[in-house]
Amino acid sequence: MALTGLEIYMLLPRTNCGDCGVPTCLAFAMKVASKQASFDECPHVTDEAKEKLGAAGAPPQKLVTIGVEKPLKIGNETVMFRHDEKFYNPCGIAVLVRDTDDVARKAQKVKALSFERIGQVIEVDTVALECASGDGETMKAAATELNQSLAGMPMVLIADSSELLAASAGALAASRPLLWERGGPSDALIELAASSGLPLVVEGDLEKCAADAQKAKDAGIEELVLCPGDVGPKEGLQFLTITRRAATQKSYRPLGYPSLIRVTSEDPVAQSLQACHYVYKYAGIVIMDTDQPEYILAPLVARQSIYIDPQRPVQVEAKIYEVNEPDEKSPFLITTNFSLSYYSVFGEVDGSRAPARILAVDTQGTSVLTAWAADAFGPEQIKKAIEKSGVFDQLAEGYRRPVIPGLVAVISGELSEEIGQEVIVGPQEASGLPRFLKNEWPKLVG
Ligand code: SF4
Repeated sequence: MALTGLEIYMLLPRTNCGDCGVPTCLAFAMKVASKQASFDECPHVTDEAKEKLGAAGAPPQKLVTIGVEKPLKIGNETVMFRHDEKFYNPCGIAVLVRDTDDVARKAQKVKALSFERIGQVIEVDTVALECASGDGETMKAAATELNQSLAGMPMVLIADSSELLAASAGALAASRPLLWERGGPSDALIELAASSGLPLVVEGDLEKCAADAQKAKDAGIEELVLCPGDVGPKEGLQFLTITRRAATQKSYRPLGYPSLIRVTSEDPVAQSLQACHYVYKYAGIVIMDTDQPEYILAPLVARQSIYIDPQRPVQVEAKIYEVNEPDEKSPFLITTNFSLSYYSVFGEVDGSRAPARILAVDTQGTSVLTAWAADAFGPEQIKKAIEKSGVFDQLAEGYRRPVIPGLVAVISGELSEEIGQEVIVGPQEASGLPRFLKNEWPKLVG
């Protein structure tokens, strides 16, 4: 059971020396209770207090690191809901490869699963290798080839027995793969993982996972991943939700680990949907049996969305952006510096091949309507942004007419008075821009 701030305070030296970087012991105790600090940061805690604080001071869900060169860190989450606090460690999205596949070709396909969205690269960051050959040496050869081709991408090694896993685990030990023996880890695999310091999957229902996790922990393995086995979406969501709740709300240590789940649907669209659900609902790693970009993209977008800090929207620099080499007669569009808004406008303008300038007004990363409602995207703010950008100096007489989003048409009159220029009301959605730029703009500047 977690200790309260006051209970933790009573175990501290209470000298208020400030050596922990916090002015008082009480303030430090409150930070430990809310998982924002670790009691190790106080250098004066006695051994006896350490023992008592141990359980309370540890994060409710263990951090597990897979891979070395580009490590995947999962777990260490503290809440169920993003409105309480952000989620910290984005889940891994893995593509399943069988050791009977053309491994070189698969590796090329996995490498290509990389996309750019709202100015960020989103990509597959994990690979899961399954022993389908029934031969440990074949698996080892495939594991080695995949590891080389994918430059150390974190790997999950899956096989039906510890004997089949042993050769690959030995060959890749320095790359820190996650070991998964189907049906749950045998004593032999627990021994192998403990002696090689590798993370391990425990598989089964909640009871079995908790029991095996305890057994593995007693053997000295700290980094464990919980898995429900091959289950459908309903059971999968139940497992992920219950384990997350047990860790973060009940402080139930035997289930205080991140989870791994394999998408079971054979239909690729259903696979994509199932993967999105798992990403949204607490999975630490999601394994998909497809390498088709159209089915992988949705869970990658879901992951990008859910792991963004809701307190800090993703934003672009507030400035003028030039698209398709505009000249002094090109249109001048206004939007906010919320990444999704800016990139929606940029994408449509760029795709239409029309030259234009886009002014991203600083709205602290909020969208057009939100910023307008919060008084951050009104005539005064836009006027200031135009003046600061100097964009009118780049435009010819008669072309200094900003195009504002149709959603804020209501500010056009006042903005026009503020800047002393005509203001054009553009389409409501960015998707209307190609048509506007092609058909409306030429008529307006005639
Ligand atoms: S370092 Fe320890 S004793 Fe000093 S203020 Fe912090 S918690 Fe208190």
